[in-house]
Amino acid sequence: MYDVIVVGARCAGSPLAMLLARKGHRVLVLDRAAFPRDTVSTHYVQPSGLARLRRWGLLDRLAATGCPPITEAVWWFGDDLSVRGFAPPYEGVAMALAPRRTVLDALLVAAAREAGAEVRERCTVRSLLRDDTGRVVGVRYDSRGREHTARAAVVVGADGRNSLVARETGAETYHERPPLTVVYYAYWRGLPSARRHLNEVYLVGDKQIGVIPTHDDLCLVQAARPHAFYPTYRTDIEGHYHKAIAEAAPGLARELAGAQRVDRFRGTADLPNFYRTPYGPGWALVGDAGYHKDPLTGQGISDAWRDAELLAGAIDRAVTGAEEWQGALAGYERARNAASELMYEFTCEAAGFDLDPMTRQLVRVVAEHREDADRFFGMIAGSVPAEEFFAPDNLLAMLGRLPADALAEPTGTKGS
Ligand SMILES: Cc1cc2nc3c(=O)[nH]c(=O)nc-3n(C[C@H](O)[C@H](O)[C@H](O)COP(=O)(O)OP(=O)(O)OC[C@H]3O[C@@H](n4cnc5c(N)ncnc54)[C@H](O)[C@@H]3O)c2cc1C
Repeated sequence: MYDVIVVGARCAGSPLAMLLARKGHRVLVLDRAAFPRDTVSTHYVQPSGLARLRRWGLLDRLAATGCPPITEAVWWFGDDLSVRGFAPPYEGVAMALAPRRTVLDALLVAAAREAGAEVRERCTVRSLLRDDTGRVVGVRYDSRGREHTARAAVVVGADGRNSLVARETGAETYHERPPLTVVYYAYWRGLPSARRHLNEVYLVGDKQIGVIPTHDDLCLVQAARPHAFYPTYRTDIEGHYHKAIAEAAPGLARELAGAQRVDRFRGTADLPNFYRTPYGPGWALVGDAGYHKDPLTGQGISDAWRDAELLAGAIDRAVTGAEEWQGALAGYERARNAASELMYEFTCEAAGFDLDPMTRQLVRVVAEHREDADRFFGMIAGSVPAEEFFAPDNLLAMLGRLPADALAEPTGTKGS
């Protein structure tokens, strides 16, 4: 009998297990994967996420893997309109990192084990066990062709956006938006060294291009298109990828012509936007299982770590009897939503290929004023609270800085 069973051992599951084990709870983690194992995800980690890693004693370990610090960002909006800057530090962390998931997830699994959690790989959870009242009391899982059961006071689904735990418990979905994008990406060697510490994003017409430096002197280059383009995109991934980059970011396309693609294209159109009620009798959800959004603004990993911390506190209080289950878990849901709702709105708008006129005007201000640019990136990074950035007074002050000739709407789709 465990205190907690966690289904899923990546960004949400392993840190949750680590934090609970550090509090003295008996934790079992089950994942069908064996680590290190890649997953379809780009991997820009915000300063706010890195600050949590540092608090947990893991940031130095990650930095020592040779992942280049990212200290500058440029977002292009067409018409040579660009916003350049970097987020103000978050709790003293003044960089982002984009570690390969093979490295990051294995590090998190190791940290969970070191803390005392039992992590079992190649174990696929098939269903939940319930008692007479319907309360979840454990899981049934397969490992090496044999079926097993394990029991716990709490079962947590850290099992991603297509969560079995959410499906089996009927967790309610809310704030739902249709999928906005389809994205494919590849890793490149031989891009200019000026890119080593730079994150570049192009939001041009119906194309979103991103460039992120990562381990082994590689850059991840992604090309996203509207979700409806998926059937066309998949007929010729390489051709449509390069066409999108050539049209939105011709300078980058020239660089790629002189670089080498390593490995295959990866991507997905399975990018829903939703929140789920993250708890019920005997169960809880964390990470993508409880809250998923388009990856454009790079929030998922950092959000998973924030929510792992929130949920570990709530479960600890409930399991030790310091607080009722219902009150503790309702507090977790409230805190998660309060910390994410404005960014969710911004992400859905930015990923929707259609910035509203006021946002475009704000972009023009931000492009002209470095301090506003840093605060814009800080809003995405978590170091400038979104409610502060989007406060009416702040927006009005920024619009007041519009140059007189900036009132016309920009047109065209020219990148760098
Ligand atoms: C294309 C793309 C790009 C992205 N880019 C970024 C980015 O740049 N920055 C960022 O912060 N986020 C990004 N994200 C989001 C990020 O990948 C997720 O938010 C993050 O991985 C969530 O972690 P998780 O642990 O909740 O879920 P997952 O990473 O999905 O892990 C779930 C785990 O559960 C296991 N599992 C599932 N079902 C079972 C079962 N029945 N039995 C046993 N094990 C099971 C799986 O094997 C898996 O290991 C991106 C996502 C995508 C798809």
